[in-house]
Amino acid sequence: HYRSWEVSKVRTTCPHCGTGCQLDLLVKNDQVVGALPANGPANKNLLCVKGRFGSYKFISSGDRLTHPLIKRDGVFEKASWEEALDLIAEKFSLLKRQHGADALAGFSCSRAPNEDNYVFQKMMRAAFGTNNVDNCARVCHSASVHGLAMTLGSGAMTNPIADITEDVDMILLVGSNPTEAHPVIGTQIRQAINRGTKIVVVDPRKIDLARQADLHIPIKPGTNVAFANGMMHIILNEGLADEEYIKQRTEGFEELKAIIARYTPEYVAKVCEINADDLKRAAVMYATAKKAPIIYCLGVTEHSTGTEGVMSLSNLAMMVGKIGKSGCGVNPLRGQNNVQGACDMGCLPDNFPGYQKVANPAVIEKFSHAWGVPLNRKVGMTSTQVLPAAAEGKVKGLYIFGEDPMVTDPDTAHVKAALSNLEFLVVQELFLTETAELADVVLPGVSYAEKDGTFTNTERRVQRVRKAVEPRGEARIDTDIFFDVMNRMGYPAAYLTAGEIMDEIASVTPSFAGINYERLDRGESLQWPCPDESTNGTAILHVGQFTRGLGKFMPINYQPSRELPDDDYPFLMVTGRMLYHYNTSAMTKRTEGITDICSESYIEINRRDALKMGIREGDRVTVASRRGEIETSARVGEKVNPQEVFMTFHFADGNVNKLTNAVYDEYANIPEYKVCAVSIQRAD
Ligand code: SF4
Repeated sequence: HYRSWEVSKVRTTCPHCGTGCQLDLLVKNDQVVGALPANGPANKNLLCVKGRFGSYKFISSGDRLTHPLIKRDGVFEKASWEEALDLIAEKFSLLKRQHGADALAGFSCSRAPNEDNYVFQKMMRAAFGTNNVDNCARVCHSASVHGLAMTLGSGAMTNPIADITEDVDMILLVGSNPTEAHPVIGTQIRQAINRGTKIVVVDPRKIDLARQADLHIPIKPGTNVAFANGMMHIILNEGLADEEYIKQRTEGFEELKAIIARYTPEYVAKVCEINADDLKRAAVMYATAKKAPIIYCLGVTEHSTGTEGVMSLSNLAMMVGKIGKSGCGVNPLRGQNNVQGACDMGCLPDNFPGYQKVANPAVIEKFSHAWGVPLNRKVGMTSTQVLPAAAEGKVKGLYIFGEDPMVTDPDTAHVKAALSNLEFLVVQELFLTETAELADVVLPGVSYAEKDGTFTNTERRVQRVRKAVEPRGEARIDTDIFFDVMNRMGYPAAYLTAGEIMDEIASVTPSFAGINYERLDRGESLQWPCPDESTNGTAILHVGQFTRGLGKFMPINYQPSRELPDDDYPFLMVTGRMLYHYNTSAMTKRTEGITDICSESYIEINRRDALKMGIREGDRVTVASRRGEIETSARVGEKVNPQEVFMTFHFADGNVNKLTNAVYDEYANIPEYKVCAVSIQRAD
């Protein structure tokens, strides 16, 4: 409780989803006691329940880690910073000497600011000597990074949020549930619908926006490529393709044409289990609308054909000339507050900051020169390759900064076996997570309210994060910890402030060259690419010319998901988010009010299936896949199709990733969270 005159306000950015809402933290006696919406370019004074209530209570939670821990004989003991840092440097240096730098790896934190991510990947590359660095975009939007880069040249949302919600004719929403996963964007879409914008929702579930949609197409999970090819088949047949745009601005159209010829409405309707007339209506609506953005999310990416799904959406938008224009584009809604930034900062095994390629010798030379040390030229492993390599004993040492793969990655038993097989595991975290429990050394991290920095939201907007309170206990600024580790491992690194780190980022990253704290603190709103100080960056990508020159059509055939229902596991399970919680719920589950509404896992089952199995609302059920078994509660209704079920991944009780399938897409190594086969029985 507080009185208004007792609190000071600190303007910052919401730490949850990629919308990047601006908010004011209310501070009293070095505690954050509240949060209020501010007028940011992405949120315009709106906040959702997570930003309003879930953004601060966890900061002063009694569960916060407040000092380093070293595990001795299987038990964590409090340690000094000197002891912990010496041990970390000694162990990683020894493993490097014995097994080579590529036996080490690091997972960076897409919740942490750009500055932390930049220094983390620099530590891995310059001090550890490996490109084995990744972030959890791998398991959400790595398919967007790859798919959009291959087709358009830039792996990011093409248009700003306001541009695709305020004044558009129709929205094609594919595999995205923004009223729950990106609620402020969801609200803006709702407002647009109320003003007359048409919307076609392509989603297996009857999500909230499906109720308001002009058309809801409940495609079978995993059939996005067939759906997009079917749309393009109709557009071509109806003579609605933008021939001039295709000729002037793209390449590869003839190859695409050959592929999509066989995706007749009847064939696609059968594959996607939809109505062929609905597909025709959707195709004509999209092609004939003047301003029509595609907005998509993990329903497209988290498949064994995730990158192909993204490229198919690029194909579709290019075919009707809807990229590089206001109110159009291909727009992935990024999940975490700074997952865009973690990728931009080079926490990727094949990219230095600003997507400068590890495979390009000139880039290696550039960074070797800038950082004053010879660099490893070998493209590193993705996080989804590191874990199997750890299980096989090829990766020996892992530094995890703010990630919890024990909860977030598919096939938990496999993840646990991999992490347990490491010779040395360091976890830097806010809480003693399930992953941290397995570590040899745990370091306390600081939250977004305890440090300065920037987050980059889903629309490439770089926004300030400002320190509101002091770090808890003995916790230290994360970048200072990385500098200490670098120094101890023989790479000299001076302590830099967040603003100084941004200056270094700008000096080596052309797309950030015009970004600095003076501009941001003057209130300038900057979207990368921002090559110099003469502009506010780039609101809409690919205007006049694609980042890669010509837009590239990629001919793609539909491939079924890797595990489909059968007699033993007859239901197709989809996973996703719900409104009140955020990812592993490490932050939101520490907010009463939110946990009063929902604090336990559940499974959505279609009423018809539930009736057949004698399952009623609230019954406890056992859900099993080939990889494990969990118990949860049934939610019976019409939200999911018959033979399909849905679970969120927020809860340690009934951790759904004990069931999900650790198979990956070919380009981005993204796991197939959205489709696996399960069986369901009443728990009794
Ligand atoms: Fe935070 Fe996302 Fe909600 Fe905005 S929409 S308040 S960024 S969780």
